[in-house]
Amino acid sequence: MKYVGAHISASGGVENAPVNAHKIGAGAFAFFTKNQRQWFASPYTELNIDLFRSRCEELGFSPDYILPHSSYLINLGNPGEEEINKSRAAFNDEMKRCEQLGLNRLNFHPGSHLNKISIDACLDRIAESINLSLEKTSGVTAVIENTAGQGTNLGHTFEQIAQIIDKVEDKSRVGVCLDTAHTLAAGYEIRTREGYEETFDKFAQIVGFNYLKGMHINDSKKELASRVDRHDSIGKGVMNMDLFSFIMNDPRFDEMPLILETPDETIWAEEIQLLLALQK
Ligand SMILES: [Zn+2]
Ligand SMILES: [Zn+2]
Repeated sequence: MKYVGAHISASGGVENAPVNAHKIGAGAFAFFTKNQRQWFASPYTELNIDLFRSRCEELGFSPDYILPHSSYLINLGNPGEEEINKSRAAFNDEMKRCEQLGLNRLNFHPGSHLNKISIDACLDRIAESINLSLEKTSGVTAVIENTAGQGTNLGHTFEQIAQIIDKVEDKSRVGVCLDTAHTLAAGYEIRTREGYEETFDKFAQIVGFNYLKGMHINDSKKELASRVDRHDSIGKGVMNMDLFSFIMNDPRFDEMPLILETPDETIWAEEIQLLLALQK
């Protein structure tokens, strides 16, 4: 079964997230565990936690279909000592927040080398950051999102993602989220049947579908291999509807959160229905 939702707002309290997701007819959802543009946030209160858990249960959202997203400020591959420590502390805090909410996965962007260290050294630092965080938490999988490869962001090739996973000690708690817009912008042609099959065969060989913990379903304003991350509403960008139809009819994407991160939130309810209707 397909579980489609969107990255919804949790403003006013994390307990509002399941309510906002339910309002748009979502079967899955994503949200920021805290304000994504600030380093610090006050901890969740017991009331936040209790309400979040009870509302998820009432509204039928199992943790397997909830994919929280971490802050954009975090760079787990940061070459600087002070800077990486700040990022690792912030990431641990977000992993703990997921643990408190009874969730089992946290999506993050792997990191950037900032032209100060080699790609290999940066991937090693990212893996070390994951290891440190897994030691301090339990039950939450660190989910690496593939990137468009903008600037010095890593994680835009399946090989880089595999290289990180290879150095993670507890492989049962590391996963991957593929973003369709990032995948195309990174240079993988997924809009044709041939390109789609080839791309996901590569993913199966290099990373493995056993690591896939969710998908971000976005159209893209930017072309193949542009290395620029600009999402668009479904059917409005350079993707065609074929790609979304391939995904919605592919059992490899069953039983995981399929999350819209499209720019116009007023049409999320329609976009969810549009995607569900693509199923044959
Ligand atoms: Zn993301
Ligand atoms: Zn994404």
